[in-house]
Amino acid sequence: MAKETHEFQAETKKLLDLMINSIYTNHEIFLRELISNASDALDKLHYESLTNREMLEGNEDYEIFLIPDKESHTLTIADTGLGMNHDEIVENIGTIAQSGTKAFLEQIQKAKEAQGESSELSDKELIGQFGVGFYSAFMVAEKITIVTRKAGEQQAWRWESDGEGSYTLEEAEKEQRGTNITITLKKDYYGDEAEDDFTEEYKLQSLVKKYSDYVRYPIKMNFEVTETPKDDKGEPIKDAEPIKKTEVRTLNSMKPLWTKAKAEITDEEYEKFFQNQFHEWEKPMEVFHTQAEGTLEYTALLCIPAKAPFNLYHTDYEPGLQLYSRHVFIMDKCKDLLPDYLRFMKGLVDSPDLSLNISRELLQQSRELKSIGKALEKNILKNLAKKLDKHREDYEKFWNEYGKSLKIGIYNSIYGGTETIDKLKDLLLFMSSKEGKLVTLKEYVSRMPESQKKIYYATARDKETIEHLPQMELLRDKGIEVLYLLDPVDEFAIEAIRQYDSKDFHSISRGDLGLDDAESEEVKKETEEIAKSNDDLMKDIKEVLGDKVAEVKVSTRLKSSAVCLVADEAGPSLSMEQTFKEMENPLFKAKRILEINPHHELFTRLQSLHGAGKDTPEFKDYCDLLYSQALLIEGILPENPVEFASKLAKLMAK
Ligand code: ADP
Repeated sequence: MAKETHEFQAETKKLLDLMINSIYTNHEIFLRELISNASDALDKLHYESLTNREMLEGNEDYEIFLIPDKESHTLTIADTGLGMNHDEIVENIGTIAQSGTKAFLEQIQKAKEAQGESSELSDKELIGQFGVGFYSAFMVAEKITIVTRKAGEQQAWRWESDGEGSYTLEEAEKEQRGTNITITLKKDYYGDEAEDDFTEEYKLQSLVKKYSDYVRYPIKMNFEVTETPKDDKGEPIKDAEPIKKTEVRTLNSMKPLWTKAKAEITDEEYEKFFQNQFHEWEKPMEVFHTQAEGTLEYTALLCIPAKAPFNLYHTDYEPGLQLYSRHVFIMDKCKDLLPDYLRFMKGLVDSPDLSLNISRELLQQSRELKSIGKALEKNILKNLAKKLDKHREDYEKFWNEYGKSLKIGIYNSIYGGTETIDKLKDLLLFMSSKEGKLVTLKEYVSRMPESQKKIYYATARDKETIEHLPQMELLRDKGIEVLYLLDPVDEFAIEAIRQYDSKDFHSISRGDLGLDDAESEEVKKETEEIAKSNDDLMKDIKEVLGDKVAEVKVSTRLKSSAVCLVADEAGPSLSMEQTFKEMENPLFKAKRILEINPHHELFTRLQSLHGAGKDTPEFKDYCDLLYSQALLIEGILPENPVEFASKLAKLMAK
């Protein structure tokens, strides 16, 4: 096959550009990234060889070799892992699969605009959420050459690129399975003059110690040593010429951190561990290290990462923990250990009770695994509850990153009984009209006045919109606290919970508000009378609007606004309808009720127009305009904005 030239995918190009222009100043971390990729490739080979021993080709060496070359100023990272074939190279190295890429690039752009150029900190945070791995090598590379052969396959491949937009791919020879990544270093990164010389053995040794000490496979390197010759008795021979020898040394300790006693592990060690093993860039928000003994023996080392990855809620995000049995890796991303609402947790479980020799499917269903999962879940929830109670600020940080995950968890449990809801409902936070702070449901309920029977909430994409909703005015005047549901998933979660402390949730944009204080009773009575005498008016407005609304009513909830749109008690709300529409699922329609304020001047005007005849164009235009206004207040565009504008203009010109 002839040498092929491929263009990088547009997004990869952008990312490479960012790398080469080095948005991240700590260049040395490229080594950690490549070693970590090599370690992943060894894990993958190990896993596949459990069911297919032939892949090993009779060679059981799992190792990573660093080969610096001062002459050609290159550094090669070689592994005996799974390797890649032609299509895998194109797939894995030429493109970025994660759909979060675009979001990542946009965020970088935004951060740059917000903080001016050279915003190193936010870049670092952003890379952390994304994990650019292999591409980071272009920070120090003039050219990168990959020679790789997939275990069990004959043909090897050579990939080469200077990171400038394209790469070449051609057939190659490679005896050993696995991948050799050779970096031809940029001028600044080799030789005695360089601040960082990545061809220098001792430099590399210290970097491995610093970043990759816990990698489970040996990271080896040849050292040139000089030795004084010894005589038969092992005594150094005086005045003899020293001999030069090459000695292979393993640079990392490989002792799994989680096997050490907790008291002996420093925060920094934990931090480094998660950086190495789980590609974390920042200090974890929380570390859980459990060493359980007794009927079920296991060690779990988990963390809540500092930042949620961009694709946490995309289908391409793979949740799950690593599994080990007696420190031997069994699998990556075991999904069945923790419930999906804890999908953000990273870490591993090591247990002698897990069998190495059963299939992945059977293992995931095993009783031991289930019990471990249950215990971990309990522990994590307990910790979160404690954080909420004792360290509110930290909890809010957690909530801002991962709250959505818990809310989705509640929504998804809707058909599975109340178990998940009961576990999570006290961990929820919502913005509230009181003090503009996040509150728990418990806090809300505890300060409800006795006459208030329901928990009120309002939905919109932002606080300001809610605060301007006509429906808010009355509740604000009465001093009733309202929860702000600002994320589309919130309302779905609330609907799934149904009740908290035997109190129903009630949207301020739905049905009857159910305020039964004396004043409200009075208003109700009065409205009923107005409604009775304006029955025809309401009916005729409904007739003009046709199917657009289910009902037109005289409102009890409006103070200074003329109209509002509410939804029926049952069925989806208006904001849920919008969410469904965005998901291109327009089947879910809210039953819309147009409410008109009988105390507004407009009401008198409507009455007089109606008196002049319900079929006059003017009355009809008024009805349409009323409805469009109500839509706009809800943040929904009128069905025909041009028509709306021209009707309004006509009216204004009068
Ligand atoms: P990530 O490691 O986060 O997936 P990278 O950009 O670092 O992203 O690597 C992209 C992919 O290239 C990896 O997921 C893996 O499939 C492949 N890859 C990288 N390095 C190696 C290697 N040494 N051996 C085998 N495959 C590798």
